[in-house]
Amino acid sequence: MDGPAAYLWALERTEMGGRMTRLQCPVCEEAADGGHHLGDTQVFVCSKCGSYRLSGTAARLLELGTLSRPDPAAFAALVEKRRGNSAEYPIIREDDLKIL
Ligand SMILES: [Zn+2]
Repeated sequence: MDGPAAYLWALERTEMGGRMTRLQCPVCEEAADGGHHLGDTQVFVCSKCGSYRLSGTAARLLELGTLSRPDPAAFAALVEKRRGNSAEYPIIREDDLKIL
């Protein structure tokens, strides 16, 4: 892959031509949906990791490499556990990633 790491990850790109917004899951790097911001979180809908909201701080730390990317399987398990029976997407913060 080319370009700086920041380019690769969780980058939301919209173009003037009306192309669909494309997102990349910051954990597993698969294409993801979502992208809208709720408070200080951003929504990701990933086919591998599930649906979650990532805090802005966590996103920044991952982007900078301060936090290493969690194992996608462990992350998916965390998302599922946090969500439980809730209809809301769970919020994943930097402290959650540190223990994965
Ligand atoms: Zn993912």
